[in-house]
Amino acid sequence: MEAVPHPGGPLRGVRVASDRASLAAARATLASPVGLVPTMGALHAGHLALIERARRECASVVVSIFVNPTQFGPGEDFERYPRTLEADLRACETSGVDLVFAPDVATMYPPGHTTSVDPGVPGTVLEGAARPGHFRGVATVVTILFDLVRPDLAYFGQKDGQQAIVVDRVVRDLGMPVGLVVVPTVRDPDGLALSSRNAYLTPAERASAPVLHRALRAAAEAFERGERDAGRLRSLMREVLSGEPLARPDYVSVADRATLEELATVDGPALLSLAVRFPSVRLIDCWPIG
Ligand code: AMP
Repeated sequence: MEAVPHPGGPLRGVRVASDRASLAAARATLASPVGLVPTMGALHAGHLALIERARRECASVVVSIFVNPTQFGPGEDFERYPRTLEADLRACETSGVDLVFAPDVATMYPPGHTTSVDPGVPGTVLEGAARPGHFRGVATVVTILFDLVRPDLAYFGQKDGQQAIVVDRVVRDLGMPVGLVVVPTVRDPDGLALSSRNAYLTPAERASAPVLHRALRAAAEAFERGERDAGRLRSLMREVLSGEPLARPDYVSVADRATLEELATVDGPALLSLAVRFPSVRLIDCWPIG
């Protein structure tokens, strides 16, 4: 497969595959180990941290760019989700990515497809309760991507902590031959986790949005001081969120980091997580403790 040049500058282009046959041909030329960074594009420094980590640990890096319709619910932002392929390709090239897989919907889901992967209980709580079917879509697209790209390692962000937990469950349950690497959340200096959806925030909402990080930090600091009562940690997060009138909490959670069951007492690895509605967008964030 030839490099696909793209307009706009002196860069020579990055290899891009957009159908299954050219992906297979390009994959066959990649040195092992191969690292995969699955994304929905609109790449920012959070994605680049995953790519950089993969670059350090793997001989070849593949980035997938696919806005996956099956993980969006009716009325969600599938249509308006930012699509910036040209800039994404340039970012991949300057980051030393070996291959970009940028399929269209029919390539990922051939006409008439009916199969999906249901991750069970960990996909039904928290984001899964707020967005029914979301994690079935995530588990399905990740399974197809792993099958097509056959990575040795796959890189996910801590930012979407439940997603990493659900994918880990799927990989173990189905015995997929891939190792998962979870990369720490990249934040703006005021604490807001980078997200493609931050682009939807109005200036006033952007000013309020670091409240997610402040709430998580308050609970994490209380945990560090010895607080083990999960109910008190949840109350602390709610209290911080209540100081921002634009921020309407959807959920606050202190859950077991393997099963995502809500805890009464934190006595092992746990995940603080929250989802907050602003008038223009719903944001999530999380923080591992214990
Ligand atoms: P997305 O394009 O939003 O589906 O994200 C693709 C991958 O990048 C997922 O594994 C995300 O968890 C990860 N990611 C997104 N934002 C961040 C961030 N701020 N820090 C670290 N990883 C991130």
